[in-house]
Amino acid sequence: MIEVNNLTKEFGSLKVLRGITETIRENEVVCVIGPSGSGKSTFLRCINLLESPTSGVVMIDGEQINRKEANINKIRQKLGMVFQNFNLFPHMTTLENITISPIRINKVPKAEAEKQALELLKMVGLQDKARVYPSSLSGGQKQRAAIARALAMKPEIMLFDEPTSALDPEMVGEVLQVMRDLAHQGMTMVIVTHEMGFAKEVADRVLFMDEGVIVEQGTPEEIYGNPQNERTKSFLSKVL
Ligand code: ADP
Ligand code: MG
Repeated sequence: MIEVNNLTKEFGSLKVLRGITETIRENEVVCVIGPSGSGKSTFLRCINLLESPTSGVVMIDGEQINRKEANINKIRQKLGMVFQNFNLFPHMTTLENITISPIRINKVPKAEAEKQALELLKMVGLQDKARVYPSSLSGGQKQRAAIARALAMKPEIMLFDEPTSALDPEMVGEVLQVMRDLAHQGMTMVIVTHEMGFAKEVADRVLFMDEGVIVEQGTPEEIYGNPQNERTKSFLSKVL
């Protein structure tokens, strides 16, 4: 579903991604770990064209997305993205946050968009928060609303960039539960996260990134239980 071939990304003279080759299958859940600054966010952002790759190929559903002729809006609709800091629109209610893109971009009639949004809010446990503004939601509720907003566009793939890193510890579990539910529904997911318990339980594979390359990858058991690479071992010994 996602095929990345020799992807590089440079910001000026800074080489952030140094040749990433990776295939992510339909229904696969992949967690990405690695030190701060290793390029994890840039990797996700190149997959949904929030950043344009310097070289290499990114394919989604067999279509190369980093070429001039690609229909960027159509491609972006296949990819839902959830950020560390929620990025909800502060001047819109939860319901409006979720319905705005389906109405404006997909031309879904308002009543239908609202019906679907209420179903999504139910799925993330926020059915009673439809009419409130983000400022009155807790961090965990904001992130669950952000997930519902991404899902409203009916993406084929969900990308998560440290979705629980900005949350108070007691709110981490409720967000991971929504992500676990999505995984069980068969959603293809790429998740930058340091939640090892979650990765062990939900991920099919874990990728370890360092200095712009995927240094090692394997099942959670392999990566956490028996890492082969010295850099992986060193990283895990610091974070575990
Ligand atoms: P990670 O998510 O693993 O912490 P990032 O992908 O955010 O890493 O960043 C990797 C490197 O790229 C860092 O050195 C960061 O400062 C740099 N970087 C990221 N985005 C930009 C940008 N828009 N302009 C310049 N440098 C950037
Ligand atoms: Mg990051």
